[in-house]
Amino acid sequence: MKAVKIIGYILLILVKVLAVLFVLIILYFLIPPFYNRYIVYPELEQERTALWKKYKKPEQFIAHTDFKGILHSHTYRSHDSRGILAEIIPAAKKAKLNFIFLADHRMSDLDSFPRGIHGIFNDIVIESGTESPGPSMMVTPLRNVILDWKSDRSQLIHDVVKKGGMVFYLHSEDSHDWANPDYQGMEIYNIHSDLIDEKSPLKFLINGMLNSGIYRHWSYRELFDEQTKIVALWDSLNNHRKIVGMAAVDAHNNQSIRARYLKNGKVEWVGPNAKTLSITEPGWKEKLLLGKPDIAGWAFKMELDTYFHSFNFANTHIFSDTLSSRSLKNELVKGHAYISFESLAEANGFQFVSADNSGKINTMMGDSIKSENAFKLKATSPFPVKFELYQNGKLIDSKEDRYDYEFQPKNKKGNYRIVARLKFRKEWLPWVYTNPIYIY
Ligand SMILES: [Zn+2]
Repeated sequence: MKAVKIIGYILLILVKVLAVLFVLIILYFLIPPFYNRYIVYPELEQERTALWKKYKKPEQFIAHTDFKGILHSHTYRSHDSRGILAEIIPAAKKAKLNFIFLADHRMSDLDSFPRGIHGIFNDIVIESGTESPGPSMMVTPLRNVILDWKSDRSQLIHDVVKKGGMVFYLHSEDSHDWANPDYQGMEIYNIHSDLIDEKSPLKFLINGMLNSGIYRHWSYRELFDEQTKIVALWDSLNNHRKIVGMAAVDAHNNQSIRARYLKNGKVEWVGPNAKTLSITEPGWKEKLLLGKPDIAGWAFKMELDTYFHSFNFANTHIFSDTLSSRSLKNELVKGHAYISFESLAEANGFQFVSADNSGKINTMMGDSIKSENAFKLKATSPFPVKFELYQNGKLIDSKEDRYDYEFQPKNKKGNYRIVARLKFRKEWLPWVYTNPIYIY
């Protein structure tokens, strides 16, 4: 009898311990999302509203127009996305994009261009491209051609570039043939690269799910980390030749649970990476959860990475006289471009140039200039920022809370680039990275 009592007593303690543990685990995952929702995000939102009121149109140094767009996005023509233009174009409009350079996964070893989706849609230039297998690159031939992905890779890069196309290395955390002489640029930021370095993806996921409403732009940004290793690699490559830096969204709109009615009346459930989870007759679950289908046919959606939130996350701005894929490509490979994180603030108007000793502007980001002609480096921003000036990857100067910035390189040669930071909750968050001005 006594033994039974003791066992009962031990069991009771065990149940209590487990119950406490369970509550602790729940709290561990739930406290941060609720703290974010009621304390952090409202504060961030307030600061953002206040910041946006400080907008001042910068003086125009660069004659070309600043076109904002995104590079490296996927559509249904990739195995792991279902995105169609009816969803992509409204999202791009909302994010105020002028262009999209797609990088869909190849459909077969023989890859024909231009691919199905390219042209001008509702004033947005869309250019087709492929994210290559193996060491990942965005290949944008801009002409009628069939690429053979089984052929020699360096020869393929050489041919595409020589014939007026574009090759950028993607996923810069992976190993690449960095010494290849023909590729024109690389990602210095990619949302996906940034996501995979999260220490606690589950916490990010739960926070994202619980804060998917009006604060989704902040919960999505929880994955953001400065890509210092990648940027350092970019700087080191630029010591040898010009390698243009760009931002990638790698948008798939595929981290979600969705459902849609098929023509035969059954319901297809689609999970992460656009994989079909099941095809079933509509039952109680479907009747309860599914509503009126949206423009793409989705009758149920629970999603993290909507096209809009990706398009409004990491942008590339290109200075060009014409809004066409040919002209944008020509200017991008010159480095007449900078990247920005637009959910913080719109960067249009940001400029980085050099001037001679009479004050005349003589180069812009991406260009090279003789040291005796680069009397001053000048940057200007539509919002007050912390300007940081890097020479060959080393921080050499910074100024806080300013719209304008000037620096005299005093004949010191090197690659000069600007990082501009915005202040949120007492922290200077990176907002703009320019391509370098090369002083030789
Ligand atoms: Zn991709």
